[in-house]
Amino acid sequence: MPFLLSRGGANVPAEVQRWQYFLLKQGINQVGGIDADFGLNTETATKFFQVRESLTANGKVTAATLERAAQLGYTIVPDDYYQRRAGTEFPRKPTNLSSPDNATRNRDFTCFKFIQRPRDQRPDAEAIVIKESCNGSQSDWVAANIVTIEAPQLKFASGFNGRVRCHAKAAPLLTKLFKKWEEEDLLHLIRTYEGCFVPRYKRNQAPGGDGGHSSKKSTDVDALSNHSFGSAFDINFIDNQLGHVPAECGQRGATRELVAAANSVGIFWGGHFSTRDGMHFEISKLS
Ligand SMILES: [Zn+2]
Repeated sequence: MPFLLSRGGANVPAEVQRWQYFLLKQGINQVGGIDADFGLNTETATKFFQVRESLTANGKVTAATLERAAQLGYTIVPDDYYQRRAGTEFPRKPTNLSSPDNATRNRDFTCFKFIQRPRDQRPDAEAIVIKESCNGSQSDWVAANIVTIEAPQLKFASGFNGRVRCHAKAAPLLTKLFKKWEEEDLLHLIRTYEGCFVPRYKRNQAPGGDGGHSSKKSTDVDALSNHSFGSAFDINFIDNQLGHVPAECGQRGATRELVAAANSVGIFWGGHFSTRDGMHFEISKLS
């Protein structure tokens, strides 16, 4: 029995996301966004699909509706799909990848100098301002290293403006990952996009006091976020907040099924940190 869906039904949230993503791909924008909630918009959009495909227009994702959708590329997963991915230990932490240490990321993405403005002059507690490269060869490290790439795979994610800003050396890997997620038909799992390059300390790890600080080198500061190097990005923030157990497979906003593909291209998942950060994906090392 495939995962049938309806308004008020006992729906698996991730399967609602799959269906909402499919409707968006089919150009049926009445569905709104990917929110995992089978509400009036999704019901209406389902009727649009059913009318278009000459099915009974009852607004429910019935077996007949799924059968037609499958002919159009919709993936029908086995009944035990979520049982086999259940629990907070899925997926296993990779043994061959880890969060990069400070030396590794400075080697891969190069050292920069940065300041922290006084608290009343910065947008949040952790924000920094990046200046020149440490060796002085680049007067503006950001302009020299941070690029904007197309990421059409994220186009239905809330908060995505059509482009990802990341380090030029991270770009090929991120592009590869987004394509892999598309090939594996996992893009319905990406509900929201919260950004890649963001110059800041790790959350709650900025130096204390309100005065800010003068120039420091990235090689000297372990507490910088990988977002400062443009080698990490966040998705599905609301369902995978820092320090919380990330959403489990099948639940709204779960990122766990995305991890295997990420690991296969050398990208580590924040859900495998000791302080869990299930929204976060980062490049472990470039080579
Ligand atoms: Zn992050």
